[in-house]
Amino acid sequence: MASPVAFRRLKIRRDRVGVHAFDRATGLNLLVDEVAVPEREWAAAPRHLAVALTNACDLHCPFCYANKHRAALDPARVLGWLREADAAGCLGVGFGGGEPTTVRGFAELCRAVANETALAVSFTTHGHRLSEDLLSQLAGSVHMVRVSIDGVGKTYERLRGRPFDALVDRLNMLRHVAPFGVNVVVNDHTIGELDAVAELGARVGAAELLLLPELRFGAGTGATARTLAALRAWVDAYNGEVRLAISQEGADGLPVAEPFRSQPLIERYAHIDADGVLRRSSFAAGGVAIGERTFLATYQLLAGEEAE
Ligand code: SF4
Repeated sequence: MASPVAFRRLKIRRDRVGVHAFDRATGLNLLVDEVAVPEREWAAAPRHLAVALTNACDLHCPFCYANKHRAALDPARVLGWLREADAAGCLGVGFGGGEPTTVRGFAELCRAVANETALAVSFTTHGHRLSEDLLSQLAGSVHMVRVSIDGVGKTYERLRGRPFDALVDRLNMLRHVAPFGVNVVVNDHTIGELDAVAELGARVGAAELLLLPELRFGAGTGATARTLAALRAWVDAYNGEVRLAISQEGADGLPVAEPFRSQPLIERYAHIDADGVLRRSSFAAGGVAIGERTFLATYQLLAGEEAE
């Protein structure tokens, strides 16, 4: 029988889908959807919140989705918003950008969120700034790191403009600090690299391989029909060691796991951009600037817009 101590770590979220128990330490998710939760008890925050801490990045990838104007969020304001979201039933935050590790005070922010809230902390990075020093500061404060890798060897170096061997060195340090996954933007240039990236992931101990078909957004021109057909065939044939996941956006008929499908998107996910505007996703137009409002008041406005 499991120790009661194990259950003390679970965070419980109650909403229109049912009762969701989540353990940020192990990634365990347990959804009891037979329970009808009264509407007055539904969580008042999205299940997951993404925060673009900055638009800045020290790389220049050709397909980058990030906004190019200068903007960055104050970590102290972000911590305040996350405290609110945590208390209102949010389960996790994912920091991104731009490149979040370029933000001064990034490690301190992760530590404060991990210590002062029950949110799972994750971030997406190109990985090249994960020095021994930064990793030692992040140890124990991050539950998942997502490293963007779109190919190996010369392909990687052509797309990212950084030495591939240096990346592998970073991954071999990261594996001792936090679980990590590999994110691959799939397009004409990277589709032929999937086997090699999956093998790399297995070699360096990645927990997940997340496939992100390129979208027509920012500098991205979108995955072609030929690439998507090749991706479908690759997924069908995949029998690698690393767990496979596929982003819903751009999946185009590929199998995705979405147990919360019946729930409006705004209850599942929201995004704060580096200008402090709350949006339905990083790709969504519009949104509501948080400004002097609380996070929850802003979220209610955005959710109200969606319901109209
Ligand atoms: S590492 Fe990410 S944020 Fe930076 S330029 Fe490349 S795609 Fe854009």
